[in-house]
Amino acid sequence: MNERPGAVAGTSVAEEVAAILSGLGVDKAAFTGGTRVVRSPLTGEAIAAVPETAPSEVAAVIGKAEAAFQAWRKVPAPQRGELVRLLGEELRAAKAELGRLVTLEVGKIVSEGLGEVQEMIDICDFATGLSRQIYGLTIATERADHRMMEQWHPAGVVGVISAFNFPVAVWSWNAALAFVCGDAVVWKPSEKTPLTALATQALFQRAAKRFGGVPDGLLTLLIGGREVGEALVDDPRVPVVSATGSTAMGRKVGERVARRFGRSILELGGNNASIVTPSADLDIALRAVAFAAMGTAGQRCTTLRRLIVHDSVYDALVPKLKKIYGAIGVGNPVTSDALIGPLIDKGAYEGMQKALGAARSAGGTVHGGGREREAEAPEAYYVRPALVEMPAQTGPVIEETFAPILYVLRYRSFEEAIALQNGVPQGLSSSVFATDMREVEGFLSATGSDCGIANVNMGPSGAEIGGAFGGEKETGGGRESGSDAWKAYMRRQTSAINYGRTLPLAQGVKFDVEG
Ligand code: NAD
Repeated sequence: MNERPGAVAGTSVAEEVAAILSGLGVDKAAFTGGTRVVRSPLTGEAIAAVPETAPSEVAAVIGKAEAAFQAWRKVPAPQRGELVRLLGEELRAAKAELGRLVTLEVGKIVSEGLGEVQEMIDICDFATGLSRQIYGLTIATERADHRMMEQWHPAGVVGVISAFNFPVAVWSWNAALAFVCGDAVVWKPSEKTPLTALATQALFQRAAKRFGGVPDGLLTLLIGGREVGEALVDDPRVPVVSATGSTAMGRKVGERVARRFGRSILELGGNNASIVTPSADLDIALRAVAFAAMGTAGQRCTTLRRLIVHDSVYDALVPKLKKIYGAIGVGNPVTSDALIGPLIDKGAYEGMQKALGAARSAGGTVHGGGREREAEAPEAYYVRPALVEMPAQTGPVIEETFAPILYVLRYRSFEEAIALQNGVPQGLSSSVFATDMREVEGFLSATGSDCGIANVNMGPSGAEIGGAFGGEKETGGGRESGSDAWKAYMRRQTSAINYGRTLPLAQGVKFDVEG
């Protein structure tokens, strides 16, 4: 691993953050002098103090969004798409700055910080095209001289609650679609990452200014924690709540939204597995597993957490993997070319150590997992990724620990591998490494992987925006981003039109009255 100077030599992280925010047009009062201190996981230093929204203020914000929705729904969808196209342009122009801010606020390596912004640009392009393709069906009707069709109308105010680990991309998956669908968006970002949200809102405002006539309140921010989120979730003027985060959060949010018959799109925790079969290309498997398990310091919802390896290839794969785990660079991605940045905070580090302790108690052999760089950054939490050889899928293996821990299990029959893969409460992403088409197709069949995402000869992470993203079981069942995920941001209306001179009733029902 090579050390390199920070891009802005002699500048603290806090100074660089302030310069980026000001450059993007964020008012200084939005990130100084407030009650919520934001720390950079790179160094642990305080980089901003953000004023928070009080739960009692949420109703007024939603009222503003509701008024914006009333106007925005009347704008033709392709014009709404133009706003999103302009947002994509602003993101392209500010990619370096916003990507850098993602790195400084979340600790992602530089290419991943930029990749997060690229994902925002991609979904803006997708949504711009979608704005001319929002369509319903015309359906055959059993009644003469009738037409039946479905239309898609804007749903209303969409509440977006996002997690720290994709602080801005997840918002864009929701918001780009919601805007072209005619909705207003109230966004509650993670309390750990309000700065990238403030920067994104400033870029949205630039696009809105160029568009002209965007109703005030089309995008509003709620800065704060759970209480503010709950006020958003409970408001009946928010017909759709899209919540990304832990399963524990989704269980609460899903129940609360259901209580008032709202719609929720839940994108929750994963416990993703890859199966390495005897026919696998082991070079591809090795590289794919390294990225999927260690990338983003194990802090992706799609991070590879369980590696299920056939007995016959275990000794050809696992020792090489252990070597990579021991050698990979861990450190500050701004001042070095490390591929593994820090964990988000102390809580994440403690959660990781607890899981490793539980794995040892369950008979696991732990390689790595210790703290690194403590002397140079005592307030930051850098860890060596852990590879844990497990005798069985027990204890912490069936839970999601949001840290770089890869549990490795052996299997003997393909059926056993599928049973292990599916034998956890979560159902987000999965993959198989195989060149035997029976195993590939078996994995993708109805009796194969039970996850929302099933890949072949690649890891479970790193999805593109073109497909619908989400998972089953405790992952929540939501779908966002591409394909027809847009439908969740609209309300479907079925209409039957009688253009004849009689009134035939469906199912042959007779109800003739004297008129
Ligand atoms: P978290 O659950 O702690 O917080 C997520 C968001 O929910 C935050 O904005 C938080 O303030 C809010 N929140 C928490 N409790 C709430 C409540 N009762 N009501 C309303 N809002 C509430 O998650 P995190 O630590 O920020 O992120 C990591 C988790 O997110 C992991 O479990 C990861 O798998 C998951 N995740 C899932 C996806 C996906 O698409 N499936 C994507 C990214 C992250």
